[in-house]
Amino acid sequence: MDSIPWWLALAPFVLFGLGWVAARVDIRHLLTESRSLPSSYFQGLNFLLNEQPDRAIDAFIEVVKLDPETIELHFALGNLFRRRGETERAIRMHQNLLSRPDLPAEQRGHAMFELGQDYLKAGLLDRAEEAFRQLDSSSYATEAQRHLLEIFQLEKEWNKAIGAAEELQASGSGSHQLRIAHFHCELAQSAINESRLDDAERELEAGLAANRKSVRALIMLGDVAVQRGLDEDAIAVFKRVDQLSTPHTALVAERMLDAHRRLGRPTEGLKLLRSYLDASPSIDLLEVVLRATAEEEGAEAARVLAREALHRAPSLLALAQYLDVRAQMAAPSERDDLEVVRNLIHNYTRRIGRYTCSNCGFKARQFHWQCTGCAGWETYPPRRSEELDSQNLP
Ligand SMILES: [Zn+2]
Repeated sequence: MDSIPWWLALAPFVLFGLGWVAARVDIRHLLTESRSLPSSYFQGLNFLLNEQPDRAIDAFIEVVKLDPETIELHFALGNLFRRRGETERAIRMHQNLLSRPDLPAEQRGHAMFELGQDYLKAGLLDRAEEAFRQLDSSSYATEAQRHLLEIFQLEKEWNKAIGAAEELQASGSGSHQLRIAHFHCELAQSAINESRLDDAERELEAGLAANRKSVRALIMLGDVAVQRGLDEDAIAVFKRVDQLSTPHTALVAERMLDAHRRLGRPTEGLKLLRSYLDASPSIDLLEVVLRATAEEEGAEAARVLAREALHRAPSLLALAQYLDVRAQMAAPSERDDLEVVRNLIHNYTRRIGRYTCSNCGFKARQFHWQCTGCAGWETYPPRRSEELDSQNLP
């Protein structure tokens, strides 16, 4: 039998010895540390480990009272309070730190940054803004600027938001052109609401300069042309939407048709929309085209079109539209049955016919440029969820 080499036989003893020394060193270090900590600190830890956060907080507050030097514990507690929604206590914690004349500059900046977040969480936007503004030359400057941008959007202070986004961009934190274009659109919307059409146009041009692919700015430029009574110009602008982003065409379909009608050329408008529909099926576009076809050419033409669309891209949403057309033209004896089926399908398509935020999954009946769930800009694809799901199938 082969014997084990002598050095291998010794290995367990050597390893044991090394472990023993390491443990002694660690324990000695811990003991030195722990002697300088008040017993409430360990009580607090114990409560935390036993999942009793309220009692843990009381114990830690005791530590802070006994030993005001424990700056990190202040931060930890402040954070804990804020996360639990106890913003008043978090604010007091951080104000307490800031009131210390001997607080080092780095920690003063940290405390101010935390205080800003406390105010933001508490909804005290003015105070949050004031806190974050004081950090522009600290190491928290970029993060503070991010929060300022968030605050200006909540306050709908779009000019300030543009300034903050541009500063962030200049500091090298990625492109903010997409949202800057939306801020200009928001300013343009206020101008349109107050019939300041020149101002609106200026903002929209600025929006397109920030993001030349801004579909929203283009659509709104068309709306301004409509308000000015320039339907021909409006149609030209709306056509550019389709060139820029085909899926967004459905958003301007109704507007295009209306402009053609005002010019006395409804058939031309309908023909144009049908060519878009042939090029790229869209449930929203189909709805507009079917309604217009029924009005301009009668129910039978609409039925033929709805049937074609259903066969070409079968979906429950297309079926619901087909049944709508069929129910309208059915004989009274058949209509009752058709309406029962149509209502059943409609109840279901209400759920699958929504727009879904690609960032947070929030669903909305209406198309939004900004998600009401996560506040992201342009996170809704202009397609209904069933359309998107069917596109994603293998
Ligand atoms: Zn979202």
